[in-house]
Amino acid sequence: MKLEKYSFGIGDRFGQQGKAQLKALQIAGESGIEIVPVWNKSNREHQIIHSTPLETRQEADEAVKDLHWKAPYYVDADHINLDTVEPFLDHSNFFTLDVADSIGSPVSDDDVGEFLKLASPSKGGLKIPGIKTSFEVTEDLLVKIARKYMGAIRDAAAIYAHIADHKGADNFIAEISMDEVEDAQTPIELFFILMMIRHFEIPAQTIAPKFTGRFNKGVDYVGDVKGFRQEFEEDLLVIDYAVNLFGLPENLKLSVHSGSDKFTIYPIMGELIRKHQKGIHVKTAGTTWLEEVIGLAMAGGEALQMAKDIYRHAYVRQDELCKPYSTVIDIDPTSLPGPDEVDLWDPEKFAGTLRHIPGHPDYHPGFRQLIHVGYKVAAELGELYLAMIIRHYGVIAEQVTTNIYKRHIERLFIS
Ligand SMILES: [Zn+2]
Repeated sequence: MKLEKYSFGIGDRFGQQGKAQLKALQIAGESGIEIVPVWNKSNREHQIIHSTPLETRQEADEAVKDLHWKAPYYVDADHINLDTVEPFLDHSNFFTLDVADSIGSPVSDDDVGEFLKLASPSKGGLKIPGIKTSFEVTEDLLVKIARKYMGAIRDAAAIYAHIADHKGADNFIAEISMDEVEDAQTPIELFFILMMIRHFEIPAQTIAPKFTGRFNKGVDYVGDVKGFRQEFEEDLLVIDYAVNLFGLPENLKLSVHSGSDKFTIYPIMGELIRKHQKGIHVKTAGTTWLEEVIGLAMAGGEALQMAKDIYRHAYVRQDELCKPYSTVIDIDPTSLPGPDEVDLWDPEKFAGTLRHIPGHPDYHPGFRQLIHVGYKVAAELGELYLAMIIRHYGVIAEQVTTNIYKRHIERLFIS
């Protein structure tokens, strides 16, 4: 199984928007941009929503059938490890092996020695084709990298082997993710991480490093844009070089997690992948849920009231809701409108505050991020919430498709 050049991770918390999501990729296809869908959902999401990997599979199959989608499509067991992979095994054909927590886990001196043998030809000034300055690689640096990452990649190998045992190696795509950490991995670290991936014989087709800057959920990139450009381009060149040198899968590409709404850096990423003829996987998750709330607000009446109630509950439960997302959320609580004020808003004001239109006078990134993590509140509403989004499917679906196509795909893939 070989992942296509461009793929887009579409998360759908409540499992009702598969068709609306796929439609955006269909429009892209009609414009000459082939992007395959990857429906991703993590164990954490399933637990909060009380959904199952089987339901994600069914949603994907149904959307594909109804829209007569002919290209491949995938169902991603997102951010799994050995403890959480089991329920996904029969239903997923894409597995994101999350080893962020094993970064820095202990490795034996023998393991470090083995890595040093492997890596020693790179000592001195390591020159990566396309990168002007060479990297100074010392024994000290190699030992540090081994101690930091070898345990993580060894764990990835164990998860990979477990899945391959169950499914057969050719029947799924493997991604390795280490994005949910504080510190970015540098391009030179990425080079040696790829060396370890080869050493442990994991045929990874995508890799999700932590990039420099804040990748907050559902809002724009925050950080040094020039620095990001350089890092992203160096990562592309490192992958290119490592693929040839180590014999990794030739379609190996970067995966950008918390990838929705990074409007400032999309044109940069787009330009660089086209320049270097590389593919990309962009993973989004909560964006579709936000479009559901926008759709409810626009529908007015009881639907708007439900959107306001969700905000009210999220507002009083800020600490609890934001805590699991501390590395990917930045809300200034003093800037948030009070629930009583929001209760007076009309549909346009609510939708305009939540919708991510940069420069729009009503757009409020804090409000948007709080609703983003507030999906737990909707999950607790259970059937009431589901019935409401089903009743207002038309207006919601339009928001979902437009958001993915107009705001994401156009900025990323169409120069
Ligand atoms: Zn992630």
